[in-house]
Amino acid sequence: MTDTIDNTTPLPLRDSNGKIIPEPIDLDAVKDIPGDDDAYKIRLARMNLILRFYDQGVLPPQDMAVINDIKTRAECSYAVDPNGHFLEHFLRAYLECSEERRKEQEKYREQERVWREREERQAASSKQAREPNKQVLFDALVSLGVHTVDVEFSGYGDSGQIDEITAKDASKQEIKLPDTPTIVILTVEHESVRVGGCHSTSACEVCKQGGLHQNAYKVDEAIEAVCNGWLEEVHGGWENNEGAYGSFEFNVAERTVTLEFCERYTETNEYTHEF
Ligand SMILES: [Zn+2]
Repeated sequence: MTDTIDNTTPLPLRDSNGKIIPEPIDLDAVKDIPGDDDAYKIRLARMNLILRFYDQGVLPPQDMAVINDIKTRAECSYAVDPNGHFLEHFLRAYLECSEERRKEQEKYREQERVWREREERQAASSKQAREPNKQVLFDALVSLGVHTVDVEFSGYGDSGQIDEITAKDASKQEIKLPDTPTIVILTVEHESVRVGGCHSTSACEVCKQGGLHQNAYKVDEAIEAVCNGWLEEVHGGWENNEGAYGSFEFNVAERTVTLEFCERYTETNEYTHEF
């Protein structure tokens, strides 16, 4: 239900163009309902008005759907208890529905908040790891006589990977990166969050914690891990849908890393045929 038909703080009703619909509250329509609670009568009269707008089909489609649902509920409870006026059943169903809707939105906002905070913590960890990792990586590359490293990656349809890592010396000859010694770098593990009974992805399998982790890697694996982290940092979800491709260039003398990132998108050609 949109805010336009919130009964507890009645906002103006709007039509499907967003224009406010005047609400001539017609107390005559509810004069047969017993009782002398004026506020209650006015609420019932407003329900009557909403039903009239519904019958005229002038409300926004999402409101029409909600009112259709409320009307069905009211019809059910009216069938069980025909003593009350239909508008009373409708009001009860309306309030029920508003409350369910409110709870749902609250849950959704809470979920959003949890995810946003998790992302913020992850981004902070990522940033924290950057300089130490560059230091360790470049020190290792210097000691191996590496001058440049080219890291190619590609991905689409929810899976992406580092395809190739090419290290070269000063004379542009390829150097095979050795398995030993290993180097210790920082990686960011996803936090596992639980929202509404739904568990999110991969915390570290060992400690089950998210955040910064220190692990020893072979040099090429360290490069792969660090580049994957940087990709996630600046183009999170890069491998989804049409995906992307590109490369990282490590300049060891300058101690810089440059990312060339090419995002793919699908062009569509439209044709019309008549038969
Ligand atoms: Zn761990």
